[in-house]
Amino acid sequence: MEAYESLEAWFSTGSQHLYGEEVLQQVASDSQRIAEGLTGHGKLPFNIVFKPVLTTPDAIYRLCQEANTATNCVGLVTWMHTFSPAKMWIAGLQVLQKPFLQLHTQFNSEIPWATIDMDFMNLNQTAHGGREFGYMGSRMKLARKVVVGHWQDEEVLARLNVWLRAAAAWHDAQGAKFARFGDNMREVAVTEGDKVSAQMQFGYSVNGYGLGDLVAYVNGVPETIVSDLIATYEDSYTVVPTLQADGAQRQSLLDAARIELGIRAFLEEGGFKGFTTTFENLHGLRQLPGIAVQRLMADGFGFGAEGDWKTAALVRAMKVMDAGLEGGTSFMEDYTYHFSREGDKVLGAHMLEICPTIAAGKPSLEIHPLGIGGKEDPVRLVFDATAGPAINASIIDMGNRFRLIVNTVEGVPISEPLPQLPVARALWIPQPNLKVAAAAWILAGGAHHTGFSLGLTAEHMEDFADMAGIEFVLIDQDSKLSEIKKELRWNDVSYLLKGGL
Ligand code: MN
Repeated sequence: MEAYESLEAWFSTGSQHLYGEEVLQQVASDSQRIAEGLTGHGKLPFNIVFKPVLTTPDAIYRLCQEANTATNCVGLVTWMHTFSPAKMWIAGLQVLQKPFLQLHTQFNSEIPWATIDMDFMNLNQTAHGGREFGYMGSRMKLARKVVVGHWQDEEVLARLNVWLRAAAAWHDAQGAKFARFGDNMREVAVTEGDKVSAQMQFGYSVNGYGLGDLVAYVNGVPETIVSDLIATYEDSYTVVPTLQADGAQRQSLLDAARIELGIRAFLEEGGFKGFTTTFENLHGLRQLPGIAVQRLMADGFGFGAEGDWKTAALVRAMKVMDAGLEGGTSFMEDYTYHFSREGDKVLGAHMLEICPTIAAGKPSLEIHPLGIGGKEDPVRLVFDATAGPAINASIIDMGNRFRLIVNTVEGVPISEPLPQLPVARALWIPQPNLKVAAAAWILAGGAHHTGFSLGLTAEHMEDFADMAGIEFVLIDQDSKLSEIKKELRWNDVSYLLKGGL
């Protein structure tokens, strides 16, 4: 997906007039070199653009307002080369509607022991200028990321990279539209939620559409385009004999391709970034969309099954964040456990809808009966997921707030053949282990549906949660159940106070 086309962050340097024009020129020159250096390194997903040095409350206010309305600006990377009295920042930060990061760096790396004098000290005083600026952010209770270290340090660049990706996903969510085909799976709780609150909190809207409207798109797809897509399927996947040109179930493949093209046309014409389906409402569709959903996800559309719009929006955000990274991201469901002396594992899958970006090899294009839904056998891609470090993320509606729960996991190879399992699947070991991770997840109220990513880390999700202003609960290598329980109790109080009336 072309997630980052034309996006940029603005490098915003704070200073003041106390030091004289010569020092300010040096500040501007150093600042420009850092912005160019960060971008020129080639490791960031898009450019960090130098902006003129800020020395007055008015200039700061104007820059923040410009950032708010600039459609390609995802947020500010702020840096205090010198001291920049932070009351100057109040008006600007009060109106800033985009995320900001404080880069606590300095132009020089090491202290020039032999030549350092007071002029040098006055020019390179991030060490205390950044603290003054930091106080203002804390006093105003503003969520932001603070990255400390020299600007050429690989770790600093990596953390900036993570934040830029999260900011791009946040940018993408503003004004995003998600379509629901059918409502929630009947009686299911965790996939429900307040769509009005979600729009206020995350900036995206979720609306329902009649299956009949979608079916009209599916039925209106020209035959020639269906044939073209079938050729793409045959090039991309290993097709089982019954679905091949002379196979007994060839018509099901044609139907599946038509469903993919119909949903794609509906989403593209409507400008949607994701969607939900539910097997309880497929009126007019011949089969539950399987390969259609899988391939649309691979192209960057967010997806949630059984009407799960929160997960659809989450998967979309994760797709934006992981654009260009190795590994892939998919809608996922914790399906069944492997309790064993060698280590407890989770087998993740779904009825059909796992994204082939996480596939370890060439997916197999298959058709099998589906016991629920009462429709014709659905066509789907079957594969094992790639092994490696991964995360599972779930977003839930706690009634007065949204909570994002993330578990770091280790994806492991599936060593046993699974000849009877007709769906794509992933196998992982949760951190710190299944016993603690699943107990913590359940106590936190985490859903069975997740966004599963081999490309992202917990830091991407934490940055995104901070930008959204929502609760973030991390279950990782260091987690202890008693600590998580306390954190959840304290968070309840914190968000109660934050929510007010
Ligand atoms: Mn499900």
